[in-house]
Amino acid sequence: MKGKPEKLIVKGKRLDGRKLDELRPVKIEIGVLKRADGSCYLEIGNNKVMAAVYGPREVHPRHVQEATRAIVRYRYNMASFSVEDRKRPGPDRRSIEISKVSRESFEPMVIKECFPKAAVDIFVEILQADAGTRTAGINAASLALADAGIPMRGLVSSCAAGKVDGQIILDPMKEEDNYGEADMPIAMVAPDNVTLLQMDGHFTKDEFKQAFELAKKGCAQIYEMQRQALIAKYGAEGKQ
Ligand code: ADP
Repeated sequence: MKGKPEKLIVKGKRLDGRKLDELRPVKIEIGVLKRADGSCYLEIGNNKVMAAVYGPREVHPRHVQEATRAIVRYRYNMASFSVEDRKRPGPDRRSIEISKVSRESFEPMVIKECFPKAAVDIFVEILQADAGTRTAGINAASLALADAGIPMRGLVSSCAAGKVDGQIILDPMKEEDNYGEADMPIAMVAPDNVTLLQMDGHFTKDEFKQAFELAKKGCAQIYEMQRQALIAKYGAEGKQ
């Protein structure tokens, strides 16, 4: 990657031409994997991610079973070819953390009581990374869960806000993530059921409020795209 650009915002526009409150272009395809119960391929800017859902299915190992409800498991994995310098394959501290917080962003939303002793397994593979992979993975996983017919209280939508050159921006890309001052990914179910909130860097109290509101607006836009993608696949009545 090139060194730090002198400015990340020039005349109110970002390096990729976006306005401060603009998301990167999103592309969604639901039901792309034949062998998964539900799946979704999603792009946001230069991020490319695949989510696959298996379940509800029998739990292995048995001792992690819960008698009255299903367990939800989530594995976030970054392909070694997804980043500029080859990433060492396999889990690391970062992917373990992202898997944990992503799973927690779904736990209150999946109606687990429907499937006692079962597991719902979510696998997210990052094929190409450009900052915002955890949020892209959550958006894809949400649609893969819906595609698998897992009952949920709502669709989880996720997006980050950040701070660069002292200004609050929506959906930071790699340069903004690397050289920016702060980053705040959130996940939520509309209208304001927040299931994930992380923060890296420093916001003042007012900046925090502004970033949080902007991230919520981003989630609302993503929710609309998720809804449209489901309607395109299944129709407004939920039938194919
Ligand atoms: P997120 O992808 O959710 O924004 P991070 O803030 O941890 O999560 O990472 C920001 C970006 O940094 C990633 O999207 C990816 O482009 C890059 N990155 C993360 N981990 C690695 C790694 N091990 N090697 C190279 N690049 C990485």
